Amino acid sequence: MKNKILKELIKIVDKKNVSADKIDLLHYAYDATQNMYLPDFVVFPENTEQISHILKLCTEYKVPIVPRGAGTGFSGGSLPISGGICLSLEKMNKILEIDTENLVAHVEAGVINYDLREETEKFGLLYPPDPSSYKYCTIGGNVAENAGGPRAVKYGVTKNYILGMELVFPTGEIVISGSKNMKDVAGYNLKDLMIGSEGTLAIITKLFLKLIPLPPYRSVLQATFSDMKEAAQTVSNIIADKVTPSALEFIDGPCIRAIEDYLHIGLPKEAQAMLIIECDGMKESVEAELSLIEKVCAKNNAQHVKRAKDKKEEEVLWKARRSISPSLNRIRDGKLNEDVVVPRASLPQMIASIQEISKKYNLPIVNFGHAGDGNIHTNIMFNKGSDEEKRAKDVMKEIFETVIEMGGSISGEHGIGITKQDFLEKQLGKETIDIFKRIKKALDPYNILNPHKMKLC
Ligand SMILES: Cc1cc2nc3c(=O)[nH]c(=O)nc-3n(C[C@H](O)[C@H](O)[C@H](O)COP(=O)(O)OP(=O)(O)OC[C@H]3O[C@@H](n4cnc5c(N)ncnc54)[C@H](O)[C@@H]3O)c2cc1C
Repeated sequence: MKNKILKELIKIVDKKNVSADKIDLLHYAYDATQNMYLPDFVVFPENTEQISHILKLCTEYKVPIVPRGAGTGFSGGSLPISGGICLSLEKMNKILEIDTENLVAHVEAGVINYDLREETEKFGLLYPPDPSSYKYCTIGGNVAENAGGPRAVKYGVTKNYILGMELVFPTGEIVISGSKNMKDVAGYNLKDLMIGSEGTLAIITKLFLKLIPLPPYRSVLQATFSDMKEAAQTVSNIIADKVTPSALEFIDGPCIRAIEDYLHIGLPKEAQAMLIIECDGMKESVEAELSLIEKVCAKNNAQHVKRAKDKKEEEVLWKARRSISPSLNRIRDGKLNEDVVVPRASLPQMIASIQEISKKYNLPIVNFGHAGDGNIHTNIMFNKGSDEEKRAKDVMKEIFETVIEMGGSISGEHGIGITKQDFLEKQLGKETIDIFKRIKKALDPYNILNPHKMKLC
């Protein structure tokens, strides 16, 4: 059977665009969770019609198929749990149009977020969603996960910029939902159902994206604190003071030390928390907002508050923020990386609860993230293969329970995939999961598209 499918795939995409070679398969067996599942084939379609034919083939032979952007996902969404086809969108990476009259970009789903940003900036425009993985991740992956990023606090997340999309459904139909129009309410809003659907309902092939004018000026400051709760309180106060920074990021003490040991950029290792706060807009309003923020930091006993003097200093601060993931393995060789979110005013309470849980289980928990959205990445650190590994899972469960009790969510941006599927029903309830299952069954009757994710079957 495998040989027959391979022959059919070659007919559809040509020999150069399909592989069943073990080395190639290994490259596509991972995502950022570091779990591994080998696909049987990896296929690199070059256009929508090829994807439609591949899906018809999968439906005919009941072969599982898993869409993949860049594999930077943190919840296992692009892992081929039951083998089958890994459908890599990496060759569908064309920016088809930057429409400077309508402020719309038309792109293929495999475009890298960074490449789109670079291109739009040439026209004085901005595509705001900026996951910290933006140099590698694809727009299709961002839409499938509804990715956020540091600038979501002011500009919102991926869903706020999706005007339209081209989709291929598991039975092969090609459908366009939405358009270049800023407003469009004709019929069911299929495109919004696809945002955050984690590749379980359709393959996204092309997108119309809303662009905004590039803010003319921005400036960044760094504030450090000797007490994590004071940093969390500063975040709440900034929001309550009705200032909207373009980024409001939080990094805790163990994280600061891990970054400094990794990058050696002069971060204060004695600090227990650090905020990176960016404002953008007209120069005068940015300066006024930052002055106000400096006062809030001082009121909450910040140790040092420093504005970046130039682009180089700004870049160092952002580099520190983006280097957190690789620097953490200095603490332990294993981590469970969760991205819980609570209503923004509850952030100090959430940080305090996580600290208590860390003490109770005697395990280090490192926190950082998009504090301005109440979205914190809690990294439960453990040594692989030791008894810490089991305790880490108990810690995760207790953190999820705490977050749900506080009216929060088990995922602010990384999605459910395989890593959080056991907790989804606890948050949403059985009735909601049953509706999800009915939608899945209607659109993917043979359960070929990204099966075994989100406990949908
Ligand atoms: C260092 C690091 C920092 C990160 N920072 C952030 C952050 O700040 N904010 C954030 O939100 N996330 C962040 N992430 C997580 C990750 O980068 C995002 O979830 C991103 O959107 C995944 O994009 P991708 O192209 O790598 O998708 P993949 O990981 O390949 O796939 C993710 C999911 O999307 C589906 N999918 C991919 N392409 C398509 C398509 N064309 N059609 C249908 N389904 C598709 C896959 O099946 C899978 O379920 C980070 C990850 C890393 C490693």
